[in-house]
Amino acid sequence: MAMFIEPSVNKEQKGWIEVVCGSMFSGKTEELIRRLKRAIIANKKVEIFKPAIDVRYDENEVVSHDQNSIRSTPVSHSENILLLANDVEVVGIDEAQFFDKELVSVCEKLAKRGTRVIIAGLDMDFLGKPFGPMPYLLSIADYITKVHAICVPCGDIAVHSFRKISDEQTVLLGEKESYEPRCRKCFEKGMREQQRTATKDSKNS
Ligand code: ZN
Repeated sequence: MAMFIEPSVNKEQKGWIEVVCGSMFSGKTEELIRRLKRAIIANKKVEIFKPAIDVRYDENEVVSHDQNSIRSTPVSHSENILLLANDVEVVGIDEAQFFDKELVSVCEKLAKRGTRVIIAGLDMDFLGKPFGPMPYLLSIADYITKVHAICVPCGDIAVHSFRKISDEQTVLLGEKESYEPRCRKCFEKGMREQQRTATKDSKNS
């Protein structure tokens, strides 16, 4: 897949929406940071936002796995971004799957007023279902990049975030070690195995 190249911008500033999606360990945040660093080099005013729920590492930084980070602002509701991003030319949004559904209209408003919006997020949860506002963001985006991890059991391209421990809680934060990227086939196999174990356990109790 070709690397994303910024469209050339006319004097009149037009906004647009980019989405970078994929599973865990696919390099989404790294790609977001790469684009934002290029915007900084191009002398653009850049701000990065993430949901206040995501406090795994540093409070004020978008931190990727290779420690390649940029400062960011945690926000509790997506509508706060509209106020905080006033006169910002490029807005980065990380962990978008954890935001409320209003993020969709927030991004549209930003793009309408001439802001370039770059969104990174998990497209699917650990059950393989579309995650939070991500399917809507993918629909309204001007540009979409799906990045892929490598399947741990077989080494093929991975699209799923497989949760190695079975637990009822949907959002498990700060536990990246409980997940591994998997291809469709290895993901389905793992899900079947977990289901079998769960049925066995309920019969025994
Ligand atoms: Zn596989």
